[in-house]
Amino acid sequence: MGKKVIAIDGPAGAGKSTTAKLVARKLGFLYLDTGAMYRALTLKALECGLDVNDEKELKKLAQKSVISFENKNGQNRIRLDGRDVTERIREPDVDRNVSYVSMHKGVRAILVAMQKRIGEENDLVAEGRDTTTVVFPHAFKIYLDADLTERAKRRFLELKEKGIKTTLEEQIKEISKRDKLDREREASPLLQDKDAVVLDTTHLTIEQQVDRVIQLFLEKVKSSDLKGR
Ligand code: C5P
Repeated sequence: MGKKVIAIDGPAGAGKSTTAKLVARKLGFLYLDTGAMYRALTLKALECGLDVNDEKELKKLAQKSVISFENKNGQNRIRLDGRDVTERIREPDVDRNVSYVSMHKGVRAILVAMQKRIGEENDLVAEGRDTTTVVFPHAFKIYLDADLTERAKRRFLELKEKGIKTTLEEQIKEISKRDKLDREREASPLLQDKDAVVLDTTHLTIEQQVDRVIQLFLEKVKSSDLKGR
């Protein structure tokens, strides 16, 4: 029997990561954070002193890299060539460069193939820009959305908790800028897949959001089981 895949997409601040992580934990599925894979490759490129605009060298690097996930004490860890880089890939140098690395079509093709392979071996919840459209076109797809102001408010509170000074107005500006860039970029732009179930989370708590995704998924599994008989 094929593996089960739930793919989650949506704009910045819609709660994709938190939801995907919790849904995976509740269902006992692997959480596939595709952004973390682009980050890991970016880290390796920086450590090797590669130019992030050099597609040919980046492709070679991607081909000889081993990126894997593991669940350790309920926590998702990512390994790059066996080394745990979970925290390191969230540092500012990686933040600044990951968009350039992920822009190259050749690099994406290699990481997408790795992601597909992981999906053949595990039931999983995948999160990331192209997971609903390119990587797992046959997955159960959820598109999480929320009002711009609500998304900005969430990001503002998240940053405040981390001790980072910002204002709600700044976050509204920042998120609408990211929305525009994400929707207009050439390779794998943010798209609402036609098969995706749209879930507006503006008035939902994280718990409600997670329960709703699981409920929708189980309904889908049940109805396809029936159809198959
Ligand atoms: O999700 P996260 O912010 O960690 O993703 C980091 C970056 O990786 C994104 O800004 C984007 O440039 C890239 N990315 C991508 N395709 C994905 C996931 C992430 O291009 N499926």
